[in-house]
Amino acid sequence: MPSRSESLYERALKRIPAGVNSPVRAFRAVGGTPLFFERASGAYLWDVDGRRYIDYVGSWGPMVAGHTHPAVVEAVQEAASRALSFGAPTEAEVELAEAICRLVPSIELVRLVSSGTEATMTAIRLARGFTGRSLIVKFEGCYHGHADALLVKAGSGALTFGNPSSAGVPAEVAAQTIVLDYNDAQGVRKLFDSRGAQIAGVIVEPVAGNMNLVLPAPGFLEALRGECTKHGAMLILDEVMTGFRVALGGAQQRFGIRPDLTTLGKVIGGGLPLGAAGGRREIMEQIAPLGPVYQAGTLSGNPLAVAAGLATLKLVEAPEFQEHVSGVTQELIHGLKDEARRAKISFSAQSIGSMFGLYFRASPPTSFAEVMQCDRERFNKFFHAMLDRGVYLAPSAYEAGFVSAAHGAAEIDATLAAAREAFKD
Ligand SMILES: *Cc1c(COP(=O)(O)O)cnc(C)c1O
Repeated sequence: MPSRSESLYERALKRIPAGVNSPVRAFRAVGGTPLFFERASGAYLWDVDGRRYIDYVGSWGPMVAGHTHPAVVEAVQEAASRALSFGAPTEAEVELAEAICRLVPSIELVRLVSSGTEATMTAIRLARGFTGRSLIVKFEGCYHGHADALLVKAGSGALTFGNPSSAGVPAEVAAQTIVLDYNDAQGVRKLFDSRGAQIAGVIVEPVAGNMNLVLPAPGFLEALRGECTKHGAMLILDEVMTGFRVALGGAQQRFGIRPDLTTLGKVIGGGLPLGAAGGRREIMEQIAPLGPVYQAGTLSGNPLAVAAGLATLKLVEAPEFQEHVSGVTQELIHGLKDEARRAKISFSAQSIGSMFGLYFRASPPTSFAEVMQCDRERFNKFFHAMLDRGVYLAPSAYEAGFVSAAHGAAEIDATLAAAREAFKD
């Protein structure tokens, strides 16, 4: 008899492309049938067949406080009982904007949107509008959502399918985006030397989390900051994944880099659709209706999303929250490396804050090319072996993993016990 997930997948395939509403969910990279989920609490997910999993996907990043945290659920219920949407200003969105500016001081003005994709679209339009220039620089393997200008050799889902750019993006649009190698500061300097006066902005994941996890090499982010300042280009730190995750103030706090513009998403909505683009006042003042750069949204600043975001930020701001969750993440990483060493498997792992990367290669990759050298077949085997043992990892070798504050010693022990067997499979 097919499982309920299998039956639902059959039905989904008839009406939804590949049965999913976002490509990496389809399990194409790892094979097998995607699980359909019914319920989540803390560090755990339950699928429609009643099986329980320890979750290391966290809805791809937002669930840093753990699933269905009572404070977040209560805030959303309270907001929902008053209104689902006004399309007009509310007190809560002012509070959220104030909280964002307080936690991320490079943000002086902020516009709320409904997704990370909208946030990066807004940021690059602002960079272009403010500078009067067209060229955008991005880095191979970084993902910034699915706007045309940024789907140029994008990572994550697109990467998994070995389809580095997307059909439907006009060549003329893609030609306005220059793609360089992540962590190649020399390449950035060379480009700015020849075309610096045409570059509107550089957009980068300050910790790359959409090609597995790649840390910025010492000096890389500093070089971006230096070149942008020297040539009057905007530095956009895409902190949709890293914001409130690698440190309370994001990667910019952790690495001491002050960007011109920042994009946020994921954690900021606590599991509801919310993103933000913000930065230096004089740039943000270019946005409509203050200035000529158009941007708008029917559901922007939605009361439910804002309530979830505010409640989540309150949790992540609590003393010890970041230390606790990054400590648990380190225990996981150390434990996995020990198990792999015992099983004599070529494996490495690392973490920053509550993000982690697992690599079937001897040392953590420092570039997109090195990410490509990981043993993908070995990962796929490991993924299924862990899934069979009740551990839900991202269904692709090119995704970062996430730990939440609800994960603790019991979950780490159970995960390591599963890994001990999975490495032998
Ligand atoms: C997830 C992500 C996005 C896109 O956010 P969506 O909400 O999926 O549109 C953009 N940038 C980075 C770094 C991301 O991780």
